[in-house]
Amino acid sequence: MVDIEMLWELQQLENKIIEVEKEMGVTDLQNHIEKSKETYNKLLQTTKKIAVEYKDKDAIALGLKEEVENIQQAIVIAEEMLNSGEVLKPKAISQLEKDIQDNTNLLEEKNKTLQELRKDNLINIKQIKRFKSKLEQIYEAVESSTKQLEKLQKDVRKSLASVYENIEKINDNLTPESYRFYYDKKENLYPVLVPYTGDSCDGCKMQFSLMFTQSIEKNHLHSYTCENCGRVIIIPQTQEI
Ligand SMILES: [Zn+2]
Repeated sequence: MVDIEMLWELQQLENKIIEVEKEMGVTDLQNHIEKSKETYNKLLQTTKKIAVEYKDKDAIALGLKEEVENIQQAIVIAEEMLNSGEVLKPKAISQLEKDIQDNTNLLEEKNKTLQELRKDNLINIKQIKRFKSKLEQIYEAVESSTKQLEKLQKDVRKSLASVYENIEKINDNLTPESYRFYYDKKENLYPVLVPYTGDSCDGCKMQFSLMFTQSIEKNHLHSYTCENCGRVIIIPQTQEI
């Protein structure tokens, strides 16, 4: 059996902390830091993606540059042959002229692609630089916000010293079963205990079945577990149901 009374008291104390944390700006600051971290990670992913694209295009450009040099070389050789006067057959001459023309066209095409790749990478490099400086800015802002948060949390602890003391006392007095029950549930389900407010769960808002409500009434239960979310629902003994 878990000690519902003590857990209820424990939750009230924790609610007090949450309330004060909200008032003193802790919650807002935590959310702000969380959001900044998300932005940072997204931007980091984008930057990495651009860096990969840059690397790929750079490798293609390098290969293309070699191709361009080979084509230029082939043109020079063909022109030399043509100008040497050693090639006399009209068919051979026209073949050489055709090769030169084809290679010149190919060269133009490759050079155009190369220029486009270089242009893209210039844009990529600029963007990477811009994102890197933005990342640094966010990182520094998160660092300073975190320091501010630590200070605020210290202040909260100071102003709620008695609340924290009482929580510790309760934790010491809870059975291991109750302790585990509360803190395990709390991780995904807060508040863990909710007061009985009628025909639906105050936690998950799910409506209770008629059979369920009838069974509570019949058995005069002090507390029960929501069939839907697993929260403990507390019915004060004095409350009529
Ligand atoms: Zn529920």
